[in-house]
Amino acid sequence: MVGRTIRNMENYYEYINEESIEKNLICNLCHKPFIQPVITPCVKTFCRQCVEQAPDYSKQELLSLTDPSVLIALDQIQVKCKLCDEINLERGHFQNHIIKLCPKAIVTCPASENNCHWIGLREEVPIHLSLCSYESLGTNSPSKY
Ligand SMILES: [Zn+2]
Ligand SMILES: [Zn+2]
Ligand SMILES: [Zn+2]
Repeated sequence: MVGRTIRNMENYYEYINEESIEKNLICNLCHKPFIQPVITPCVKTFCRQCVEQAPDYSKQELLSLTDPSVLIALDQIQVKCKLCDEINLERGHFQNHIIKLCPKAIVTCPASENNCHWIGLREEVPIHLSLCSYESLGTNSPSKY
């Protein structure tokens, strides 16, 4: 997984208590909390992706929103992982959850540099490793799992 970026992280979580999220954190185009918020010249805030798809705004110059109080509040929004159903995750930590922790995330074999092409759920890695013939070829690197 190292060096591999997961696109569209939003597809893997859903908001919990969505009605309790402050209105000033909600995008008027997608009606969800901002993702990569930007400010238009008319001082409206939208998600970058939303505004880039909106004909009225797409040609305008956009500034990334940098107000720390908004960014921190966005990071602290509670989400639920759609893969493993874990709740009480902060949105700002969600990527870390998927990349390092989520038992239902798709991962490659820790011995993939030894040409093992196995791909599966993180929770299946220990079972796979007991069968994996590449792992014993060993780089003597300690298992990350
Ligand atoms: Zn939006
Ligand atoms: Zn998860
Ligand atoms: Zn393997």
